[in-house]
Amino acid sequence: MRGNWICTFVALFALLLFAVQPAAAAHIDEGGSDPVWVGVNDTLLTFPDAQPDLHDGMTYAPVRTIAEAMGASVLWVPSTEIVQLYKDGRHITLDPPHSVLKTDDGTQHEAALYLQNQRLMAPVRLVGEGFGYAVSFHREGGPITRLTDSAASLSDEQFAAQNQDRIAAEKATWREEHQPKPAPEPPKPEKTVYLTFDDGPNEYTAQILDTLKDQGVTATFFVLGPQLQKHPDLAKRMVNDGYTVGLHGMTHDSSKIYRTAQTVVQEMEDDNTILTQTTGLRSAVMRVPYGSKPWMPQAYRDATVAAGYHMWDWNVDSYDSRSNSRTADETYAEITRQVPGKKEAVILMHDKKSTADALPRIIQWLKDNGYGFERIYGSTPPVNFWNDER
Ligand SMILES: [Zn+2]
Repeated sequence: MRGNWICTFVALFALLLFAVQPAAAAHIDEGGSDPVWVGVNDTLLTFPDAQPDLHDGMTYAPVRTIAEAMGASVLWVPSTEIVQLYKDGRHITLDPPHSVLKTDDGTQHEAALYLQNQRLMAPVRLVGEGFGYAVSFHREGGPITRLTDSAASLSDEQFAAQNQDRIAAEKATWREEHQPKPAPEPPKPEKTVYLTFDDGPNEYTAQILDTLKDQGVTATFFVLGPQLQKHPDLAKRMVNDGYTVGLHGMTHDSSKIYRTAQTVVQEMEDDNTILTQTTGLRSAVMRVPYGSKPWMPQAYRDATVAAGYHMWDWNVDSYDSRSNSRTADETYAEITRQVPGKKEAVILMHDKKSTADALPRIIQWLKDNGYGFERIYGSTPPVNFWNDER
């Protein structure tokens, strides 16, 4: 029976402590609120390391400095983390693990007792009142939280006036140190890569999209109109996942595309119409099949520019479409051979099984070699074989 009573008491006590803590924890922060000064009688205190802080309208300060200014002695019991303050036969107990400050008369105050710069911070008011001091808060002069007993000779106004120069100087220093600093710019990768995939969408595109998403990198797809019609869901996924969909025309047949400047424009217009029907988007970037040289002389380029298109080729050719027996290893080797030394790499790839299989390794290699991934926008200065920057 007796054992049960003790158990119940311990459980209740634990519950009580637990109930107290969350509220107290709300006081705790990293410091850095507006500055506040602390005086004991006619002395404005100096805190060499941890500075007084305002939390929820309460002034917190290093308890040792406050106690010693009041002539109290401080005893810290490391094993329990409890701090005892003694003065003139009275004592105060600070119990940081339980967020409790206990005064002589047995009153327990919930109090956030936290460390700042290795100093135990406590509410100045509770410590002062615990030893019978009067507590005042003088906002205009500092603000100053001041503890006074019969030894004080200055009024709060006189005390503030006497210390106004020091407070003004410290305030200026504090403001200097706490000026909002401009957020540091995230370091930009010095090297950029544009992954580009031509001739899709097709049955290998989903694997490519999965890999891009897994690796968190972006890319550009130059799509064919008829393929868009076969795989509208993949086109929608490209757009929804945030990749650029550019144009690659309709026939992929050089004898048809390049008959005149106008046939090139028409292939892109038809492709764009299907893209808009499929995804709701129009594209302003295009890549002509087989590359723009020699297929796109000045008059042809003028016509596509007049139609609003920016023309892209590449400066790294993965040769992934050279043969049907092309392996993932060969594509990886070719890209990692051609990319080094390029500040801006535009990699030509195709929606192919071997390329999709090589892609995770290719992306990892590019990341390891400091490349940032970008997609092509209409506003991106185009890379093409004619150095035509329009
Ligand atoms: Zn192509």
